[in-house]
Amino acid sequence: MTHRLDATDPLAAYRDRFVGAETPLVYFDGNSLGRPLTAMGPRLSRFVEEEWGGRLIRGWDERWLELPQRIGDDLGRVVLGAAAGQVTIGDSTTVLLYKLMRAAVAARPGRTEIVLDRDNFPTDRYVAAGVAEECGLTLRWIDVDLTAGVTPELLADAVGERTALVVLSHVAYRSAWLADAPELTRIAHDAGALVLWDLCHSAGSVPVTLDEWGVDLAVGCTYKYLNGGPGSPAFCYVAERHLPELTQPIQGWLGSVDPFLMGPSYAPAPGIRRFQSGTPPILGMLAMQDMLALVKEAGIGAVRAKSVALTSYAVELGDELLAPAGVVLASPRDPARRGGHVTFTHPLMREVTAALWERDVVPDYRDPGGLRLGLSPLSTSYAEVERGMRLVREALAGLT
Ligand SMILES: *Cc1c(COP(=O)(O)O)cnc(C)c1O
Repeated sequence: MTHRLDATDPLAAYRDRFVGAETPLVYFDGNSLGRPLTAMGPRLSRFVEEEWGGRLIRGWDERWLELPQRIGDDLGRVVLGAAAGQVTIGDSTTVLLYKLMRAAVAARPGRTEIVLDRDNFPTDRYVAAGVAEECGLTLRWIDVDLTAGVTPELLADAVGERTALVVLSHVAYRSAWLADAPELTRIAHDAGALVLWDLCHSAGSVPVTLDEWGVDLAVGCTYKYLNGGPGSPAFCYVAERHLPELTQPIQGWLGSVDPFLMGPSYAPAPGIRRFQSGTPPILGMLAMQDMLALVKEAGIGAVRAKSVALTSYAVELGDELLAPAGVVLASPRDPARRGGHVTFTHPLMREVTAALWERDVVPDYRDPGGLRLGLSPLSTSYAEVERGMRLVREALAGLT
């Protein structure tokens, strides 16, 4: 029987386009690794037969060399609110964080601090620490509530004339706190700093309008809500106004002005291609193109509306089924401040997660005691949420 909420969900039919949708497995980790689209199998085999196998090295001239910028433009238009020429794909989020942080601090000489919060994703904190050490800068930490995130008040207290760069996550990986990106960007700019947004947990699930917000720099994954597949390359955004002045530290030939001149020294390409370094991973860009087309078809506004409804339903079931067993909601209750996942805490959640994986219910565990449910809007049904939440209660009851 169809769940009452699936029956009225305008996006319900999209779920059938994902591999495994017909199985009883409950997938609560689409925010860590999105499911593949069924279109991916034929696309991959077509690519091998026709493009790679048929065109061979001619493929670079015909299509592949420009692909990172072309997909970047599509990503900008469909999910990032970025005009063409400001987004490219390649490397991992970690490597792009390094490139952009280095470029940003070099563009603010005389300023000595990078501002970030203690609960930002580990790789963001580690890269910032490395850049600070390398460039003789200091990290200025914002302490945050682990069930929330960085507020305008907290940021305003941390920035000042010493701030070169502010590094923030749009959606907090642990709590799902949805930062007020336009307001925080304004606060960083008022202090004369640049701002770098990590969009890993928002790109493809929460509408982002980088140009309108006046953002300087952004990075994000494509294997989470953009379903690009394990290790698919990340994207970076650099606002057009900064492109002439920002240069990145990994000066490779494919970011140079004329790669095939094979010249004696490096000069950066004039546009966003200057943020590329070496040969782009074309195979890793196949799946995200189909997913972007799907998000475009559904509309990012409708995707967000379903995301809010799914997380609200999980919160409601949490209150009903889990709160009596001592489980606490560790995400914002206000959907306007919450991204696409929900975290519930209990001292036994590590064991609960292990028990659930055994039963084909796949959430994530995050310390301290957090069960994280990522509800990818186009591939998750309300029936799946209800079944999963009931099994969480069962697993917890079995352990207590
Ligand atoms: C997933 C995630 C990353 C991952 O970085 P990789 O280089 O792809 O491993 C970075 N930052 C945030 C906020 C993330 O959620």
